[in-house]
Amino acid sequence: MRHFPIFLDLAGRRVVVFGGGAAALAKLRLLLKTEARLTVFAADPDPQIAAWAAEGRLRLVRREGTPGDALCAVLAYAATDDPAADVRLARIARADGARVNMVDALEGSDFITPAIVDRDPVTVAIGTEGAAPVLARRIKADLEARLPPTLGLLARIGKGFRALAETLPAGRPRRDFWSAYYDAVGPRALAEGGAEAVLPALERLLQRHRQAAPRPGHVHFVGAGPGDPELLTLKARRALDTADVVIHDRLVPSTILDLARREATLIAAGKEGFGPATPQAEIDALIVAHGRAGAQVVRLKSGDPGVFGRLDEEIAAVDTAGLDWTVVPGITAAAAAAAALGQSQTQRGRNAAVTHLTGHDVAGFAEHDWAALARPGAVAAIYMGKRAARFVQGRLLMHGAAPHAPVSVVENASRPDQRIVATTLARLEPDLTAAALSGPAVVMLGLAPRAAAAALSHPTLQEAGS
Ligand code: SAH
Repeated sequence: MRHFPIFLDLAGRRVVVFGGGAAALAKLRLLLKTEARLTVFAADPDPQIAAWAAEGRLRLVRREGTPGDALCAVLAYAATDDPAADVRLARIARADGARVNMVDALEGSDFITPAIVDRDPVTVAIGTEGAAPVLARRIKADLEARLPPTLGLLARIGKGFRALAETLPAGRPRRDFWSAYYDAVGPRALAEGGAEAVLPALERLLQRHRQAAPRPGHVHFVGAGPGDPELLTLKARRALDTADVVIHDRLVPSTILDLARREATLIAAGKEGFGPATPQAEIDALIVAHGRAGAQVVRLKSGDPGVFGRLDEEIAAVDTAGLDWTVVPGITAAAAAAAALGQSQTQRGRNAAVTHLTGHDVAGFAEHDWAALARPGAVAAIYMGKRAARFVQGRLLMHGAAPHAPVSVVENASRPDQRIVATTLARLEPDLTAAALSGPAVVMLGLAPRAAAAALSHPTLQEAGS
């Protein structure tokens, strides 16, 4: 991020605009929303600017800008529609001590003006660092449609009520009160009884919340899916939205953690590959401690919480502590990997069962029903399988599996850096070592990427195509 978004207090401060044409008009339309003291320097100003001056909304000086014009100004806009003049005026204004914006010239500017969605006092600023104005406009249009025009009024009334709301205990009780106001009570009162109905509705709501018993803590065991934020369930999104504490696996990417409520405490727990690990008892204790303190705890696990996630142990700990809990399922890595391959995990006539197995268990390499897995058409997803691949390969071949059985290793399934290593059982090692994967990977036995699978079953086509 090169440009850091901030909200600048312009009330009573001096802002200077050089120029009287289209560019200046566009900036002035925005600046007139503020309480800044505006001065425009333009030899030949647009009639609209003259009209604003006549209304006393800005001061108009009918000449070009000269040194000293931007003295004491916090901001200056070089907006003359003439790039050469803008460069000269920007230099003058900067020498006068103002922060300068040159229209359409990122490099010559000290700051840039975002696209703005105005629901004063709620203001949304959208910036793309000049990279994609089209995108900024689209986001703005999206938000304009999504945020009701009455939002500003509700926020203004809410602002006036803050002192009273502070009689509620800080933290969740106060947040619940405001959520109820903005999500339901406020909009309803406004729709049914107009602006005058909002304050009485707020007072009734406060009464109800004063009498309410404090909400007890709750633990949500939430599946974060394989990594793509779009593969989160709506329930997972909602849990993240309302979380006080998020205790997450190290596998959960920051793009998903960013969706947690901004005030939520984020705690990394669990282990990453063979890296540092938080002991399970410590994780259990952490979940319970926050739940007991009355927090909405989200225990965020990669994929589905019930697949190689030690969910039962954590539920047992939460149960013993007498806390309520819910499980929000997620998309497990095998499902994402199969999707990446364009393959189905089961297929009529090929396999009526699919096994999710781990290459490791507490005792080291894990033993399985190798004979069943070695049968033609068998499909299995091996989690945590990178290290165990050679062991699994040996066991399967020993139990009569076809050396040419397809095997696909999917690394970082669903993420931007997803990679697929398509190989066969016989070549799983060395191909896996050669690929030097560094991210989480699931080994899909019995499945090849669809295109490669098609080529294998039509060898002549493949030759004709190659
Ligand atoms: N609960 C998780 C699994 C946790 S075990 C789930 O349902 O997916 C951790 C293992 O999951 C990793 O070693 C890897 O084998 C697999 N895994 C998790 N995320 C993955 C991803 N995005 N791509 C490939 N494998 C992944």
